[in-house]
Amino acid sequence: MNSKKTITILHTGGTIASKVDYKTGGVIARYTPEELLYKFPEIAHVVNVKSRLIRNMWSEDINFKHYNLLAKEILKELHKVDGVIITHGTDTLAYTSAALSFILEGLEKPVLLVGAQRSSDRGSSDAPFNLICAAKFIAETDFGEVGICMHESMSDDNCLIMPACKTRKLHSSRRDAFKVVNG
Ligand code: GLU
Repeated sequence: MNSKKTITILHTGGTIASKVDYKTGGVIARYTPEELLYKFPEIAHVVNVKSRLIRNMWSEDINFKHYNLLAKEILKELHKVDGVIITHGTDTLAYTSAALSFILEGLEKPVLLVGAQRSSDRGSSDAPFNLICAAKFIAETDFGEVGICMHESMSDDNCLIMPACKTRKLHSSRRDAFKVVNG
């Protein structure tokens, strides 16, 4: 019998869902949820994964209306699965995590926000490690809050699960850009 936990990954866009456009040097042409899962098959060794696209947008365009939409979608999923991962652009990821933690009071299951500083098509992308760490954390703990899962250092050694309301993005490109402030 398959005894693995089941999670849903809800995608909102950002660098984690992007590819480099070699004509401009920028990142465009977002991945679909299916393509992302196909790129990171290790996640399926840790948990059973369902995946759904909520939006395909840069996080600077996310506003209060999107927080509410996301919270509703998370609640729908939490009835059915053991935890939810939200993929999100990093620039306003910490604001979304704070907003969700106020909207989703009394959670009993994990909701982890995950971003990436390098697009998922690059060998140096931090996306796979961040996603796999989040999935492993959900698989192995009974955490029941909103949190942020990103690299602890520049190398692929560890991720941190950071508190929803005390975490900030403090660097534009480093993998360990997210820091817990006063905590
Ligand atoms: N500014 C974009 C965003 O926050 C891209 C940055 C990123 O995802 O890391 O969605």
